[in-house]
Amino acid sequence: MKVAFEKALDIFGYPFFKLLRMAHEVHIQNFDEQTVQISDILSVKTGGCSEDCSYCAQSVRNGSKMPKQPMLDLETVLTAACKARKHGASRFCMSASGRCMVSEVEFEKICEMIKSVKDLGMETCVTLGFLTEAQAIKLKKSGLDYYNHNVDTSPEFYGNIVSTRTIDDRIKTIEIVQKAGIHVCSGGIVGIGESNEDRIKMIVLLANLKIPPRCVPINKLVKIPGTHVNDSKPIDDFDFVRMIALARILMPRSYVKIAAGRNTLSETTQALCIFAGANALFSGEKLLTVDNVEQGSDGNLFRKLGIKIEHYD
Ligand code: SAM
Ligand code: SF4
Repeated sequence: MKVAFEKALDIFGYPFFKLLRMAHEVHIQNFDEQTVQISDILSVKTGGCSEDCSYCAQSVRNGSKMPKQPMLDLETVLTAACKARKHGASRFCMSASGRCMVSEVEFEKICEMIKSVKDLGMETCVTLGFLTEAQAIKLKKSGLDYYNHNVDTSPEFYGNIVSTRTIDDRIKTIEIVQKAGIHVCSGGIVGIGESNEDRIKMIVLLANLKIPPRCVPINKLVKIPGTHVNDSKPIDDFDFVRMIALARILMPRSYVKIAAGRNTLSETTQALCIFAGANALFSGEKLLTVDNVEQGSDGNLFRKLGIKIEHYD
């Protein structure tokens, strides 16, 4: 049944402890409250992107001047995947910048990476921009588990952050991915000038997809010199926790991931997010173009909270 925005707005505005208790109750009905799934992410092809996502260092239209790096070789990717597995990651995410994967040769290399990372006993995720049905089927045949394709914000605010595509274009690729039988990883970014209403509308949009995403990453903007959202007001930590709680309540079976910007959250705020239903994180000191948490800091946090890492069998 579709979720109405007004209902979601109402829930988001509940007294903080009532909202957290509600989200925690939904969480423990669907997941083990003491377990968190860990992913690691590698940019296998970087920079030079023709899209104009206002927050992204990889867009040629932003002033960030990120150097273009060609596709990595398989050995480099597998070395990174083995390191990620050693740090407890059960999923290895590979990202290639760009509107879509044009080169057939590069697409074949991505398929090879997926097969080889699977052979390491890890789940795989890729994010390549738009996909055709034929490409999605090929990725599935290669053993792909997840495809990341964020909707990023509300339909109303989307045109403020990207002009080279529409949010409907994103939803089309999400549907192609789901039709191919691949899990969807789709979430968004906050602190880019959007309102709480936009944040809520994004979560409602995801919850109302024919199949809600299996993984919902929430990214906190990491300001990159030269990009166009650097003077945006950061999200208040309590509103960030409320977003996690709302995502949990509206998508009870999805993994809710605290993604980029986690290094700006205190351990206490992260603990509140986990209580509210966040059960997926990125490990590793680097995400695609921004720093992540320091190596080892998660171990301390998990010890303090009694958190176990989810294993992929
Ligand atoms: N190029 C692929 C695409 O655009 O779908 C994926 C690259 S990366 C996974 C894309 C996501 O990372 C964005 O949708 C956004 O949510 C997040 N992101 C990009 N730049 C960011 C930044 N500076 N701070 C926080 N999150 C960011
Ligand atoms: Fe390109 Fe993706 Fe960055 Fe947008 S988020 S500019 S599509 S790499």
